[in-house]
Amino acid sequence: MNPICCPQCGGLSAYCVRPDGLFQCPECGDLLDRRDIDLDGMEVWGVAADGTLSTTTDPAHSLDCLMEAIEDFLTADECPNAEYARLDSMRNATESLAAYIDARRLGIKRPEFGYTEESVRTAVNAGADMVLGAISLGEPEEDAINLVVNAAITSLTNPGASFAEMVEENYGEDAEEVRSWWGWSK
Ligand SMILES: [Zn+2]
Repeated sequence: MNPICCPQCGGLSAYCVRPDGLFQCPECGDLLDRRDIDLDGMEVWGVAADGTLSTTTDPAHSLDCLMEAIEDFLTADECPNAEYARLDSMRNATESLAAYIDARRLGIKRPEFGYTEESVRTAVNAGADMVLGAISLGEPEEDAINLVVNAAITSLTNPGASFAEMVEENYGEDAEEVRSWWGWSK
């Protein structure tokens, strides 16, 4: 990680976080707002354990580089100088991992892969609301759509669950009860 130093008094003192969220140079008192932090492309900022404002590489980018280095390692035999390619890829992997750890130590959140359970839940419910809000459906159709919403979320959190398990989990009823709602028995 790289401390951000104050340009007003010689560039030797790093800004420190204050209780009000601003950053201050301990040397000359210059104040820095988070909106004025200058970042290069792949950089993110965070606050180190000692309160120093620092920048580091975006952990999502470091993970990409780490995975790329592992692929390079695995295919090193295809390179003219396989031994060099192996060493080079391991060095890149080590550097990327160190940068990733740096970012996590600066309090930067772990990157998310794919969709979270929360985002799927939100999307499925928003999809149902979108349809229910746009067309006029009767109660049986609304109940059926809500069944699908609950079944989709159950399938996400408990893959392979049966209809009966889904109904028990979401409605506290047995499957026969739901089948009887609108003459839905099969
Ligand atoms: Zn200063």
